[in-house]
Amino acid sequence: MFEVNKVRQDFPMLSYHDSKGNKQIYLDNGATTFKPQAVIDAEVAYYTSFSANIHRGDYDLSLQADQAYDQARKIIARFINCQSDEVIFTSGTTESLNMAAYGLRKLLHEGDVILSTLAEHASNILPWFRLAEQTGARVEFIELDEEGRLTVDNFRKALHDRVRIVAIAQITNVLGYCADIKTISALAHQKGAVVVVDGAQSVPHKKTDVKDLDCDLLAFSGHKMCGPTGIGVLYGKAELLEKMEPMLLGGGANKRFNSQGNLILSKVPDKFEAGTVPIAQAIGLARAARYLMDLGMENIEEYEKELHEYLVSQLKQLDNIDFYNPHSDAAISSVNVKGIFAQDAASYLNSKGIAVRSGNHCAKMLVEFLGTDATIRCSLYFYNTREEVDAFVQALKTCTLENCIDIFI
Ligand code: PMP
Repeated sequence: MFEVNKVRQDFPMLSYHDSKGNKQIYLDNGATTFKPQAVIDAEVAYYTSFSANIHRGDYDLSLQADQAYDQARKIIARFINCQSDEVIFTSGTTESLNMAAYGLRKLLHEGDVILSTLAEHASNILPWFRLAEQTGARVEFIELDEEGRLTVDNFRKALHDRVRIVAIAQITNVLGYCADIKTISALAHQKGAVVVVDGAQSVPHKKTDVKDLDCDLLAFSGHKMCGPTGIGVLYGKAELLEKMEPMLLGGGANKRFNSQGNLILSKVPDKFEAGTVPIAQAIGLARAARYLMDLGMENIEEYEKELHEYLVSQLKQLDNIDFYNPHSDAAISSVNVKGIFAQDAASYLNSKGIAVRSGNHCAKMLVEFLGTDATIRCSLYFYNTREEVDAFVQALKTCTLENCIDIFI
């Protein structure tokens, strides 16, 4: 296990103080994470030492950038256990999922079904709604259990012969439940369906082995796993990527074309990476993956589990809050302070130097299920501490209407 106080020294942002002099307590890691200095350095090194475009130049600098970009792909492949040509660099989970939906459109016919859940983030439902509209397919929702969890039993009930695509989050971003992707993939494959996994909230926090999960496509973002913004990944099984159409066409993604519009696409993964790719960001993301692998994904998961259990035990003692997911599998806790709007409570927490997110967290279909259109979400990462959890719980305790009003006057 790592030493958290040592790990914290790697993150310059953890010594940030707000304008009132409060030391920042950052509990919004589901939105984005802080970056260790090593990642910042890796990105800066590209700009200061070997800044050139890739695949285009015949000179040393370009070759150096080429090698670093290829190496980045290999590191990500190792991180999720796949071949490097199964890793497509994108701008983030949102682009990856849009790419998946676009790429799979030839697979769908009128009356076919895309299975999903009401707990999905906008990025993992809106592309599927559009695809359904364009192809005459329809989106069906797997029933969630009384806590909001996707269970294998309910998945089994929802699955039928017309299901061609299953699009679900491995870990949901408001309630933090973890779906059994391995079993779901096995069941879906019996019906010949393609399984697309939104890994935005899972890949940063637990060891990911796509061979073991056996999903067909997996999307995740760099910025939620200590990497830069503007970079993400779409993993795809090699044989499926061969069949999928690229969403973007342009330089680098074609082998040949002529004035008659005849086009021969590049091989996978280049076929999916038209235009100048996010070179510095891919290098930064690979450095982040190495950083996480050095800490050990199992250690990260174990540390977060312990810290989350501690937070849950503290939250359960508060009688002034509604706690929506005391049995969350991930270190994500969604609460409301009774009688106080989520945003006001989040502003009160901010006055204490505590950063959490309030609102519907882009999971707008879940609002009805939760019976509230906004919650405060506390999402932990491996650099958070018990002291920070204590400060959060203490601030929730003192979050009264009077105290909230005080910060606005
Ligand atoms: N899916 C889930 C479950 C998420 O939490 C997020 C980020 N909030 C996304 C997709 C979208 O990720 P990005 O904004 O990095 O594209």
